[in-house]
Amino acid sequence: MDKLTVNDLSVKNQRVLVRVDFNVPMEEKDGKMVINDTTRIKETLPTLRLLIERGAKIILAAHLGRPKGKRDPSMSLRPVADKLSEMIGRPVAFADDCIGESAAKAIAALQPGGLLLLENVRYYNEEEANDPVFAEKLARGADLYVNDAFGAAHRAHASTEGAPRLIAARGGRCAAGLSMERELKFLGQELENPARPFVVVLGGAKVSDKINVIDRLLEKADTILIGGAMVYTFRLAQGRKVGKSLSEPDKVDIARAALEKAKSRGVQFLLPSDEVIGTPVDTGKVNKKGKPVIEIRNPRPSSDPDIPDGDAGLDIGPQTVKRYCQILLGAKTILWNGPMGLFEDPRFAEGTNAVARAVAEATAKNGAKSIIGGGDSIKAVNKAGLADKVTFMSTGGGASLEFLEGRVLPGVAALSAK
Ligand code: ADP
Ligand code: MG
Repeated sequence: MDKLTVNDLSVKNQRVLVRVDFNVPMEEKDGKMVINDTTRIKETLPTLRLLIERGAKIILAAHLGRPKGKRDPSMSLRPVADKLSEMIGRPVAFADDCIGESAAKAIAALQPGGLLLLENVRYYNEEEANDPVFAEKLARGADLYVNDAFGAAHRAHASTEGAPRLIAARGGRCAAGLSMERELKFLGQELENPARPFVVVLGGAKVSDKINVIDRLLEKADTILIGGAMVYTFRLAQGRKVGKSLSEPDKVDIARAALEKAKSRGVQFLLPSDEVIGTPVDTGKVNKKGKPVIEIRNPRPSSDPDIPDGDAGLDIGPQTVKRYCQILLGAKTILWNGPMGLFEDPRFAEGTNAVARAVAEATAKNGAKSIIGGGDSIKAVNKAGLADKVTFMSTGGGASLEFLEGRVLPGVAALSAK
């Protein structure tokens, strides 16, 4: 890697500003905010343990939710400080402001190996605006900087870009944390010169979310397997009918361009040969959010490339599952982003589950490197109980996609070169 990592820093007695991803899902229970999923906190523990062992004074900065510049108590990081303390088995101090006097006092009280969590940086609009005055206030208390929040690195905010630039400008070194380092390794170096065949599986809701990734991967992959609702925009590009399937008629041109690029580059680019379709029926009811409740009736396999008018395509079909899995079992590198169908409904989850099993099997039996990105794909792998059977699961979401597109992430660019 061409960037410093936390292993390269001499941190003893140094105040280290560490940007972490503590944007955990929370819920109100009996008037208190409770954390529903601690995965993101767990991700940071290796970096924090290393810094503790080496005697750093650790100042943690993070955002939670979208408070839009207001001190919204439901988005306070205080419950995260308690949870972190429980998970790491040490006290974690909390400052009820990320800048100013209360932060400065808490920083001054830090002992080597001590931990302090600052309040939500997004209580200030200046954070997302990357305001230089705010960034300076954030950077003021730190000698060094570590970014372990890959999921926030695609944004040039004060805590991800402005502050490290200022710290670096006065000679403080800025490094990637261990979680960030792994993200850059697996989504970057490993895919730069992948062991072949390199098979990419892309699914999920929209072509528009992933078209830039498709475009880039058409230059690297041997095979691209398409699933999910994105199939139907490609079908439109082929002049087929998609019925009520989720599709993006205004993205047909870019879908067509991708199909042509695949052909001209000799990339095997596969769409499903059959699928599981169903009939969406409006129940006349509305859900909590006031949206109409649509029920799907009569799920059935179909190998007609045209979807009947009243129906929607909701999963890849059994023939396609077989074909995709066969190809995956021969792969040496696999990148998977996006579920193959409406997997939240068990009637349309088989395609996604079968792909998850094939990815795990290729990893175990073929020695394939398997890399999974995308929040919903990771949910599906977790649900299938296969999380420890794949090589790497990216925490990045939007950041992973931008990185896979080949873009420079501002939060990575701001780190010091080796
Ligand atoms: P990821 O988070 O893995 O990047 P996306 O957010 O792009 O994936 O897409 C996931 C969503 O797409 C899921 O909610 C899933 O139900 C939906 N989806 C996948 N295939 C279909 C389909 N054929 N019809 C409707 N929704 C679909
Ligand atoms: Mg998603």
